[in-house]
Amino acid sequence: MSDRANELRDNLLQVQERIEKACQAAGRARDEVNLVAITKTFPVSDVRALAALGVRDVGENREQELKVKAPECPDLIWHFVGQLQSKKARSVVRNASVVHSVDRSSLVEALSKAAVGEEKTVRCLIQVSLAAYGSAEAATGAGRGGVEPSAVPELAAEIAAADGLELGGVMAVAPLGSDPEEAFAGLHDVASRLRSEHPGADWISAGMTADLEAAIKHGATHVRLGRALLGTRTPLG
Ligand SMILES: *Cc1c(COP(=O)(O)O)cnc(C)c1O
Repeated sequence: MSDRANELRDNLLQVQERIEKACQAAGRARDEVNLVAITKTFPVSDVRALAALGVRDVGENREQELKVKAPECPDLIWHFVGQLQSKKARSVVRNASVVHSVDRSSLVEALSKAAVGEEKTVRCLIQVSLAAYGSAEAATGAGRGGVEPSAVPELAAEIAAADGLELGGVMAVAPLGSDPEEAFAGLHDVASRLRSEHPGADWISAGMTADLEAAIKHGATHVRLGRALLGTRTPLG
């Protein structure tokens, strides 16, 4: 194995241990939590190395990177987790099977049209803003995206009714400066209400390198991990 492959293997082992411990602490079964490796800014060789170690789910937050990497590794399940312009919907639908960041009606329409055109079914998660849950950010206005919890039912109905789309659940990023416990507890409430209307929408995509334990404690089914697996990112220009 190359040095890099060794490093990724060690990181993956540590991450698996963190997830396992968090599941134990939360009284949850390990197989309730799925790992999505966020490979943004890292080369496709890293994606291949992770795949060789058994990682199946990978995610990107920029359409430009997704469309280059995904065709190189078509056997993996590709997730899109970033802000998405409607005009990039077709490219994202072509290259990913899950979109975690659905946050407006116009995007639902664009994704639906693209999915029908590509003859695919795309699983859509509603990105929820957690600014209302005990955050310092609400005051500063430094939002991290997503719809207000009160807007979730309407957007959910639109996704559920759209051709080519499947309503998968919710996604969130804990607000900067907030207590992730409070934020993810709020997300859990939003997810429970959604599931009572749409039983199949049972995914909670929450938890990153800094806060995966809090997310798992509050019901995350998909943790999105970048730095813990791949190391520090160099910002893209
Ligand atoms: C980059 C990113 C992640 C991974 O963050 P880390 O802190 O590197 O684990 C998760 N979710 C989204 C939406 C991201 O953009």
